[in-house]
Amino acid sequence: MSSSLRQWFARVLVLTQLINGALCWGKEGHYTVCKIAESYFEEETVAAVKKLLPKSADGDLASVCSWPDEIKHHWQWRWTSPLHYVDTPDYRCNYEYCRDCHDTHKNQDRCVTGAIFNYTMQLMSASENSDTTVHYNLTEALMFLSHFIGDIHQPLHVGFLGDEGGNTITVRWYRRKTNLHHVWDNMIIESALKTYYNKSLPLMIEALQANLTVQSYFLYEAPVPVCL
Ligand SMILES: [Zn+2]
Repeated sequence: MSSSLRQWFARVLVLTQLINGALCWGKEGHYTVCKIAESYFEEETVAAVKKLLPKSADGDLASVCSWPDEIKHHWQWRWTSPLHYVDTPDYRCNYEYCRDCHDTHKNQDRCVTGAIFNYTMQLMSASENSDTTVHYNLTEALMFLSHFIGDIHQPLHVGFLGDEGGNTITVRWYRRKTNLHHVWDNMIIESALKTYYNKSLPLMIEALQANLTVQSYFLYEAPVPVCL
């Protein structure tokens, strides 16, 4: 399980980067990101992921990739809301973990990059050392990680504090009045589905897959973030 799961993390990272800019991340966006990643799983990876998935997923990771969005408004999961994005100071076109990765109460590590790091570590440590004394909920860790990897590639999930990642910027998308964040999350994909794919998500996924050029990928060992 360890090597296949490791490879899978690396692949999801690379694949989501490859399709960055083409997708947005409402339910369809997350489903698409995970479905494409799944198509690159090796047999061993399929088995490792299946073992962790809840029964309701019926062996399909993509079907639970929106789970973190579905639960984030329930009171017991409200703490996870800041984990879906990270904002930087306005017009500062760089990102610094220690400056930017916190929730509105300044709790450090409560942002999308902190969450990706945390859930990756949970899955890695469990796969490397099965008799670890710390028992994480690896099913939740897998569903969170798959979701947050998608979120971080939605451009406005890494946006500016002042406009709340485009949420306070009112725009018109064709005839509908909405905000810029929502356009990226849902409306671009909705329009693309309607205009180019006869409202068929499988057709759109197939077209995106055909345009992907997967070259080599490697496992990037991120340094442990330490904020003084
Ligand atoms: Zn999200």
